[in-house]
Amino acid sequence: MDVQHIKRRDIILKRELGEGAFGKVFLAECYNLSPTKDKMLVAVKTLKDPTLAARKDFQREAELLTNLQHEHIVKFYGVCVDGDPLIMVFEYMKHGDLNKFLRSVLSDGVAWGGGPSDNARIQFTFCLKIGAHGPDALILVDGQPLQTNGELGMSQMLHIASQIAAGMIYLASQHFVHRDLATRNCLVGNGLLVKIGDFGMSRDIYSTDYYRVGGHTMLPIRWMPPESIMYRKFTTESDVWSFGVILWEIFTYGKQPWFQLANNEVIECITQGRVLERPRVCPKEIYDMMLGCWQREPQQRLNIKDIQKLLFTMMKAAPVYLDILG
Ligand code: AMP
Repeated sequence: MDVQHIKRRDIILKRELGEGAFGKVFLAECYNLSPTKDKMLVAVKTLKDPTLAARKDFQREAELLTNLQHEHIVKFYGVCVDGDPLIMVFEYMKHGDLNKFLRSVLSDGVAWGGGPSDNARIQFTFCLKIGAHGPDALILVDGQPLQTNGELGMSQMLHIASQIAAGMIYLASQHFVHRDLATRNCLVGNGLLVKIGDFGMSRDIYSTDYYRVGGHTMLPIRWMPPESIMYRKFTTESDVWSFGVILWEIFTYGKQPWFQLANNEVIECITQGRVLERPRVCPKEIYDMMLGCWQREPQQRLNIKDIQKLLFTMMKAAPVYLDILG
């Protein structure tokens, strides 16, 4: 499919949303994008004063994004390349990136008086309530995805994880290795809709191949398995390892993995075979899933389809799980 081109005059910048490796990200209004709406809100990523190499990367990335279409992959509308800066236009995800979202949920929870020290018990009480109304009863309320105390419950955490798994199943089906899966690269929209949203470091390689990075490339080592750290080997299985770390991030409300360690210590730790500890608010079944993602041998790791099935089973059984946790 061809990359869609959007006219600069159709894009009206409104405010800055954030800054990524690529450049600044803005909220904007875009005209003539949808046949049914005159204008719509979008997120635009800008690239100022690109070098020739950066321009090529930009073009490559736009082609790649045009061909990735799935309900759990952020929608890419097209590019604006007439003049400077170069712009990529994406759907706007109202609640921003998942890491910030998870952190804000925790601070809201504290503000409500729950307090992190009581988290475990509070979560379980609330989840039992969710169970009584069906597991998704509180997820789908637009604008109010959270529970009354402002915290995420177990079934909501599982719902977030299963949507990322759905996006990953699609990527694997396209033989696409992401290489940088982390909550910071997922976006949250209305009604707790979660999508994988940043492909800055990704490469469309077959899972039997691997990609070598040289020079000064920044590597997300805290999310990487031993073989990626040691041999720069990135595969669908290394994405599964990162998914385990995403689960850990969700269940710690967005903590940085190995936050207590410096980068060189993290490398030592992971290559020696140590894994992250079980978060305080995490059922054994979910920690077992993390451990299944963190098998040293890539072929021994859980596969992403099985992970999604397990997540569904746990979501259905959430109240039962919570009973045994108490
Ligand atoms: P990135 O360059 O993708 O790392 O984006 C930097 C920041 O901009 C993210 O952490 C988000 O907070 C925000 N952002 C990026 N894309 C979107 C989007 N499609 N909708 C809303 N916010 C976004």
